[in-house]
Amino acid sequence: GCTAEDIAGALHAAAGVIAEHRIELIELDRAIGDGDHGENMNRGFTAIVSTLEDKVPDGPGAVLKLAATTLISKVGGAAGPLYGTAFLRAATSLGAVEEMDGPAVATALRAALEGVQARGKAVAGDKTMVDALIPAVAAAEAAVGETGADVTAVLAAAAAAAAKGAEDTVDMVARKGRASYLGERSAGHLDPGARSTALILGALAEAR
Ligand code: ADP
Ligand code: MG
Ligand code: MG
Repeated sequence: GCTAEDIAGALHAAAGVIAEHRIELIELDRAIGDGDHGENMNRGFTAIVSTLEDKVPDGPGAVLKLAATTLISKVGGAAGPLYGTAFLRAATSLGAVEEMDGPAVATALRAALEGVQARGKAVAGDKTMVDALIPAVAAAEAAVGETGADVTAVLAAAAAAAAKGAEDTVDMVARKGRASYLGERSAGHLDPGARSTALILGALAEAR
């Protein structure tokens, strides 16, 4: 199982990966947006780390909720409220459990996806973070169906699928967010939000 401390550690790892890829995310967003995604995400995850350094809340849900409120207040742009909603819905799906298991990870990922779609109205193929999240949720749920799928196995499956889903945004024409202003010219570029989703899931999977 995965305790509040484990999740705090995983978020710390995610912050490190986002910091390492800050320039890459800026450049991806510069190509089809306004170039702030790397800075926005780095600001948000740096703030999560410093908030958790003060105190790790009791229970996985409370840690994810604190991450959500931090992202909402610090990231801004389109991605801030969307990631904030993702973490908030994931937190709510956990209730007051003391430890997350493999099925809880899949449930939290599905809740996160549903939150992002409720808020941003993006569907598969719109060239957004949803294109990383949809395959991640499917892979997580498939992994849970296999015997003895623990947190590590479920997150590893989700991360691999998110990476593939993000790569698949290259050929898509954006229909949501700033990139949609470019129309057909948005094709041929990786979506920055799909990339950051894949990076975060990759970091969470590696942190275990
Ligand atoms: P902004 O576009 O306001 O500068 P960011 O650059 O931080 O915000 O984030 C851009 C990312 O947000 C996009 O790459 C895309 O993945 C995601 N995004 C934008 N609009 C939506 C939406 N409606 N639904 C889901 N994701 C979205
Ligand atoms: Mg931007
Ligand atoms: Mg912006």
